[in-house]
Amino acid sequence: MPGDRIEGFNDKYLDCVECACPFLWTASEQRFFHAKQLQTPRRCPSCREARKRTINPSGPQEAPRGGGR
Ligand SMILES: [Zn+2]
Repeated sequence: MPGDRIEGFNDKYLDCVECACPFLWTASEQRFFHAKQLQTPRRCPSCREARKRTINPSGPQEAPRGGGR
């Protein structure tokens, strides 16, 4: 038997809360989330990426500290 099926986990589709698109949550990801005791993902990978970019837009911004005072 091919080993791409993981015991107890099957690939499934979840609905993204952000764009309402169904996205695939793979068995290996489920196992990872289970192992890390993470909650079920609620956003599709692209929305997750978009969120990450919103929080941290295009890398760290080095704001000059300590203005001339
Ligand atoms: Zn989405």
